[in-house]
Amino acid sequence: MLHWEPDRDGVRVRTPQGTYAAARLIITVGPWAGDLVPSLATRAVPERQVLLWAQPLRPERFQPATFPVFNMESPEGRFYGFPVYGVPGFKIGKYHHRLERTDPGAVDREIHPEDEMVLREGIRRYFPDADGPTMAMKTCLFTNTPDEHFILDRHPEHPNVAIAAGFSGHGYKFCSVVGEIMADLALGGRSAFDLSLFEIRRFTAT
Ligand SMILES: Cc1cc2nc3c(=O)[nH]c(=O)nc-3n(C[C@H](O)[C@H](O)[C@H](O)COP(=O)(O)OP(=O)(O)OC[C@H]3O[C@@H](n4cnc5c(N)ncnc54)[C@H](O)[C@@H]3O)c2cc1C
Repeated sequence: MLHWEPDRDGVRVRTPQGTYAAARLIITVGPWAGDLVPSLATRAVPERQVLLWAQPLRPERFQPATFPVFNMESPEGRFYGFPVYGVPGFKIGKYHHRLERTDPGAVDREIHPEDEMVLREGIRRYFPDADGPTMAMKTCLFTNTPDEHFILDRHPEHPNVAIAAGFSGHGYKFCSVVGEIMADLALGGRSAFDLSLFEIRRFTAT
């Protein structure tokens, strides 16, 4: 989608393949939310994240049967990670890795020594038995809202446009219920769930 605009009968959506007319539209474009809904640009903010897979020194301690998926508050910040599963490495990331807001179209996909340092510090301090060689590192994007709760709502000015955005690094596990909510918002204008936590106007109400 290159552009959307309301018209008398609903919404017109322009794409490289052509222009489509629809009665209703759901916008779920992840880090690009602020491009397609400008009022969200300061409320759904893309942030560069980095993940690291380390070769454990004691692999037997990092197997799914002995080591949990974790999400851990620490004085240095919040680390998350997984046991060795699928690929032979212990996976770790840190929320708000290096506090790098970014343009989703121009993300720095290079891995820098500073990226490794952030995650290595967490491994050394909290998982010393995983402190073997780095096997791989990757970048990805989170799209954060100010309170890190999702945006699941209808557009404040165009109620036939529904928006799901700002999943703040924890949207994947909710995708089935989010799909149901967005279908209900688009088709009937409301959801059976209480969505007050996810309304767009919470950012202007205070
Ligand atoms: C490394 C990493 C680990 C994560 N781990 C977890 C986890 O363990 N648990 C969890 O719950 N969540 C996790 N998340 C977060 C989760 O992936 C996101 O919250 C979720 O994917 C957000 O969904 P979304 O649909 O908003 O965006 P996306 O998944 O980014 O999807 C948006 C889609 O819109 C498309 N798009 C963008 N612009 C346009 C356009 N103009 N026209 C058409 N299409 C467009 C994009 O190509 C993309 O396919 C993780 C994220 C990352 C990066």
